[in-house]
Amino acid sequence: MLARETAFARRENRDGTIDAICRTCFVTVGTSVWEAELARAEKNHACDPALLERWNRLAARKSITGPQQP
Ligand SMILES: [Zn+2]
Repeated sequence: MLARETAFARRENRDGTIDAICRTCFVTVGTSVWEAELARAEKNHACDPALLERWNRLAARKSITGPQQP
């Protein structure tokens, strides 16, 4: 079995809840104080192909123009 790299980031909110964020499409897939609930939300998540395409396009544009100077 291939170990899938962790596809989800966790972000703790001020109210004590934790967001599970998909690293691929940057969507918050679930918010909970329970690890099990986050895991379930992550398991049920499927990236939106349209959203992925949008990110890919943005990434492509960024690589062309290079990092922006402030
Ligand atoms: Zn996703």
